[in-house]
Amino acid sequence: MNSIRAVLLQAQAQLNNAPLLDAIDARYESQLLLQHALKVNRAWLIAHENDDLAADIQHKFNTLIQRRIGGEPIAYILGCREFYGLNLAVTPATLIPRPDTEILVDIALEKIPANQAAQILDLGTGTGAIALAIAQQRPQAQVTGVDASKPALEVAISNSQQLHIANTHFILSDWFNDLNDTRFDVIVSNPPYIEEADAHLKQGDLRFEPISALASGADGLDDIRRIIDSCLIHLKPQGWLMFEHGYNQAETVRELMAQTGLVAIETFKDLGGNDRVTIGKNPLIVSTHWD
Ligand code: GLN
Repeated sequence: MNSIRAVLLQAQAQLNNAPLLDAIDARYESQLLLQHALKVNRAWLIAHENDDLAADIQHKFNTLIQRRIGGEPIAYILGCREFYGLNLAVTPATLIPRPDTEILVDIALEKIPANQAAQILDLGTGTGAIALAIAQQRPQAQVTGVDASKPALEVAISNSQQLHIANTHFILSDWFNDLNDTRFDVIVSNPPYIEEADAHLKQGDLRFEPISALASGADGLDDIRRIIDSCLIHLKPQGWLMFEHGYNQAETVRELMAQTGLVAIETFKDLGGNDRVTIGKNPLIVSTHWD
């Protein structure tokens, strides 16, 4: 039998030598996968380094390590990813939430007053990450998440139930298509925005993620254009539209927003200093509809 420490060191070496894995923290990932096989937390694992590992667990762990060596994202193997302090279930039907997207949540929260009713919409909600983070931080807000993928929507609904975040509801809809005429104070989206010929789609975690959540036409902007085209029908007066987008798309997104009539357009940078989020506001002071 091998000790936990010995098994971890061997797995770490295997991950470090795996040609498909680049710049990963092999020690940390080995620990996470063994915690998963043993169903224990990190403190337990560290305290039991000298224990022997049962053969069946070692076998289970090896299977997980082999999947990771094949390039499968660690979030899909573990079935979860932390986002904005929430532990979210993720499946291959959903994009894996990214730390950069937390900036979009921060910007949305700046526009949503606490202790006040508000209607929020998250387009292409996936795991529900953005919708659930906003709903948890703004208990008075009603947050609607939509996705065109039924399996993704089921993950979002299950996450809302597991996390007991009740001020959300989730609707199957291709962007705005299946929404009624509700208007929103803030519409947020992390839509697909990668150019469909981009080589990154064939690398790393992206190979395993749903292409419909990643790529959007030749210039990556097909879905962003569709959303901007219809946004004014769904924004309340003074309501905000905000997108995550590619590092080189800010100028075009600003132009598209300006063409449709949005004002107060502004771009924000991500953790790496790249343009990542652009926002714009419906200039109307009062609604032109009875709603
Ligand atoms: N930011 C992600 C990436 O480049 C893509 C997410 C998206 O298309 N919305 O990996």
